[in-house]
Amino acid sequence: MIRYDLHCHSTRSDGLLCPADVMRRAAQRGVEAIALTDHDEVAGLDEAREAAREAGIAFIAGSELSVTWRDTTVHIVALGIDADNPTLVRGLEGVRAGRDARARRIGESLGQAGIPNAFDGALAYVTSERLISRTHFARHLIDAGHARDMKDAFRRYLTSGKPGHVPHAWATLPEAIGWIHAAGGAAVIAHPGRYKLTSTDMRELIADFRDLGGEAIEVVSPSHTPAQYTEFATLARTFGLKASCGTDFHGPGESRFDFGDLPPLPAGVDPVWGGW
Ligand code: AMP
Ligand code: MN
Ligand code: MN
Ligand code: MN
Repeated sequence: MIRYDLHCHSTRSDGLLCPADVMRRAAQRGVEAIALTDHDEVAGLDEAREAAREAGIAFIAGSELSVTWRDTTVHIVALGIDADNPTLVRGLEGVRAGRDARARRIGESLGQAGIPNAFDGALAYVTSERLISRTHFARHLIDAGHARDMKDAFRRYLTSGKPGHVPHAWATLPEAIGWIHAAGGAAVIAHPGRYKLTSTDMRELIADFRDLGGEAIEVVSPSHTPAQYTEFATLARTFGLKASCGTDFHGPGESRFDFGDLPPLPAGVDPVWGGW
């Protein structure tokens, strides 16, 4: 069995290591096939592909697209994309463009809550001029002494209902899946256990996704408990979807799973890489 890791981030979005270092770390830790999936971005893929080749591991071109489904932000991982596809490139440009204005609003909202200059603070942690995320705000809030760690920064300031969380419309689910398919890729619902959805809404999300031609559900993820591996494996099977797995690695010390730490997919699911 090849060890797959189909979800991780580099400095081209909100990760701490450059794409080549991400690939080298994954290879050193026993990963045999890896997808780089930066948020709304494909700019790190060429560097990553070359480093993966040098390290002797298989490379899958990916991205993690930000989507608004009803009122919920949902992430859709794209796997096996042609990163030069104009439909995908233009779609991702549009999503990234919305991030700058959103970040200013996050800064203003934190200012009203008594935390001044958070936008400039977050900018100091940005590693790609093309992308600012809440993760950069979180790193600033920690280093400025407003939060103990990532979890604390998100819990206190950056999640729904907190000052650093502002409403934002990302891509729609049909748009995201359409762009991924235009680029020849497979669409995967990322870490479904993270979304605050009732079980009815979760099934409706999965049904919508399946009806739009989506391919897979991320079953094994650090966002899930072992019980959720079973739960989402069952949902994948019952909806006729494949299963994926990934560490969602962002950097040493910032992620619950490092490369090589992923448990295997539960028995009985159809892995997303089955047809590759
Ligand atoms: P954004 O796309 O700007 O909304 O930022 C989302 C990113 O924030 C995710 O990809 C994670 O890297 C990070 N994130 C979200 N929630 C949490 C959390 N509770 N703890 C740590 N990181 C989080
Ligand atoms: Mn992230
Ligand atoms: Mn995500
Ligand atoms: Mn991710």
